[in-house]
Amino acid sequence: MIPEMITDALVARLCERVSASTGDSFGTVNVFTGGTLAKVPRSSPRDVAEAVEAAREAQRLWANVAVEDRIPIFERFHGLLLGHTEELLDILQAETGKSRKDAFLEVSAPLVTVGYYARKAPKLLAPQRRQGMMPGLVKTTELRVPKGVVGIITPWNYPFALAFTDLIPALIAGNAVVLKPDTQTALCTLFGVDLLYQAGLPQGLLRVVIGDGPVVGTAIVDTADYVGFTGSTRTGREIAARAGQRLIGCSLELGGKNPLLVLADANVPQAVAGAVQTCFSNSGQLCMSPERLFVHTAVYDDFVQRFLAEVTGMNLAAAYDYSADMGSLTSQRQLEAVTRHVEDARAKGATVLTGGKARPELGPFFYEPTVLTDVTPEMLCYDNETFGPVVSIHRVADDTEAINRANATSYGLNASVFSKSTSHAELVAAQLKAGTVNINDGHVVGFGSADAPMGGMKDSGLGRRNGTEGLLKYTEAQNVSRQLVPLTTPPRWLPFGWYVKGMRSLLRLVRRTGIR
Ligand code: NAD
Repeated sequence: MIPEMITDALVARLCERVSASTGDSFGTVNVFTGGTLAKVPRSSPRDVAEAVEAAREAQRLWANVAVEDRIPIFERFHGLLLGHTEELLDILQAETGKSRKDAFLEVSAPLVTVGYYARKAPKLLAPQRRQGMMPGLVKTTELRVPKGVVGIITPWNYPFALAFTDLIPALIAGNAVVLKPDTQTALCTLFGVDLLYQAGLPQGLLRVVIGDGPVVGTAIVDTADYVGFTGSTRTGREIAARAGQRLIGCSLELGGKNPLLVLADANVPQAVAGAVQTCFSNSGQLCMSPERLFVHTAVYDDFVQRFLAEVTGMNLAAAYDYSADMGSLTSQRQLEAVTRHVEDARAKGATVLTGGKARPELGPFFYEPTVLTDVTPEMLCYDNETFGPVVSIHRVADDTEAINRANATSYGLNASVFSKSTSHAELVAAQLKAGTVNINDGHVVGFGSADAPMGGMKDSGLGRRNGTEGLLKYTEAQNVSRQLVPLTTPPRWLPFGWYVKGMRSLLRLVRRTGIR
């Protein structure tokens, strides 16, 4: 079962956008069946170097286009995306195995990004007048200069959202982009790239390369002027080290082991609905999904009973419509990782309240939503990211225990707090070491609030996407200062001692008057 719209002709047309001269290709998997979905070209490190050089040429012209004149291209892209949503959802589902509900949420993210930066970018990128060294004597302006060629490397779990929420601000800021999607999810990314070109993006400004991460991804880090990476913490460390050698900047959006806290005063049905939605989004293959639930003892029994009722009622299906609550895992590798975590926990004494097994009759990589208790530190799933539909529930005596246990991880990506009291929830949120905290929601409100930067603390990352930082990270700040009178080079006829006296008086005056 391959959606009708994924024809050989479409695949061939999309693949023309890939910079690849090897003649080799990769086969991608139709996740719901395990069969072959498409063949996509393989790029070499030389293709990457050529793509970066060619992108550099295109970027020189693009940097001279006023920001206000760049924006309409992205607004047209917004319209095209809305007009082609159904086709994109088909490709996304075929490549990832996610439910159509999850695929729709994914496609919504770049729409929010376009709307946000279309409004904000002209002001954020405009020259800003700064206080000069001496009032009236020096005029200082801060400029935002594009980095040049930005390399963007993305994973397979939210391939469309993560590529486009990162590359849209990079392009709007005046850069060219060389993009490496995960091979398995290259088609949905190429579909979006095609829409951007249809919207009027100058040819060659956005280039796509495909290949193994350590080969093609590394070649990007070795040649681009900045790298925006989303993926595992392990790869993030390698990229940071390599970027460090070249003294180029990078932003790293990495893994998590996210906590969800249900406080004593939570609205339990609301907490249950929020937990089900966030824990099993994309079958738990979501960096922001909670895998550890800390529930106050006062509401523990009620929460667990209602949560189990909801989870056992979820509809799992390989369906290209909105009937499924949860789809498939994306690969055999994920299925094995999830199975290993659950079997390890079971063997070491965890209780499986529901789920705990694969569902091959639904599709080769389906796995049930799984709820564990009695999970202890020696188990793999205690503090390692499972990246699947597996959560552990822990009973806690009070807020302090919940906060301490939530923070007892090397990660710090996302957290969720449920409470009927805003002040109580905010007090707890302020003590959580996570880049995003969602109150009375799992992850969507934090991710969707494009005006605020989001990213990871601790091993969950470096830098932020969204907000001002999500745009300005793709620029260099340039300080242009002009002296209006010769302030730093006194005239030859003036003895230097007099110049020092004059400067001291001036410094005293500006301090006393509070000007500086
Ligand atoms: P991964 O690190 O294996 O791969 C991510 C991307 O990096 C892929 O395109 C891959 O080909 C490439 N890559 C691999 N090795 C590379 C190297 N040495 N140099 C350059 N590029 C390389 O991650 P994954 O398994 O594909 O993705 C799952 C992980 O991503 C999870 O840990 C998840 O939490 C994380 N993630 C984080 C976010 C976030 O926003 N924080 C979002 C989604 C996923």
